[in-house]
Amino acid sequence: MIFTDDTEDALRAAVGLVNSAEDPDSLTTRAEADAFVAQYPYTGRIDHDDAELAALRALRPRLRAMLLAPRDEMAEHVNAALSEVTLTAQLRRHDGLDWHLHAIADDRPLAERILVETVMALTDVIRSDEGSRITICADDTCEALALDLSRNRSKRYCSTTCANRNAVAAYRARRAEA
Ligand SMILES: [Zn+2]
Ligand SMILES: [Zn+2]
Repeated sequence: MIFTDDTEDALRAAVGLVNSAEDPDSLTTRAEADAFVAQYPYTGRIDHDDAELAALRALRPRLRAMLLAPRDEMAEHVNAALSEVTLTAQLRRHDGLDWHLHAIADDRPLAERILVETVMALTDVIRSDEGSRITICADDTCEALALDLSRNRSKRYCSTTCANRNAVAAYRARRAEA
């Protein structure tokens, strides 16, 4: 494990949210927003309404810029976010996760909580100087984010779909040369 569980969960969720914007956009309806929170569970308030969907969609470009930023710029993104939200730090233990810090109250809007959980996770990324674990997918045609939480830094693609497509292409290229 590179980071703590709660940090890795927050990074996976942030990357999942950002990647939902890739063509075809998979966060356009309330049902798709429900599917997102089913895949990346969040404790606390979920409104299931259009305002929440719009806020989640609007958050995506900001999270993408933040996640891809070089270290010092990432710290500026984190500070900007921390200065605009109301933080209510509490230690919590839930859903099989041991004690960890919740930096924002459960009744704040979902998009605001995702922003705060992401900046808390990025605080760990910045402190350990592990920002290179978040990249743009190595597939030439894909702009999605790839999150590498493996010990040997072996993950360069956003998904198994992209990894497999490139493995097949590399195999064909080798066979063509032979
Ligand atoms: Zn939690
Ligand atoms: Zn990809």
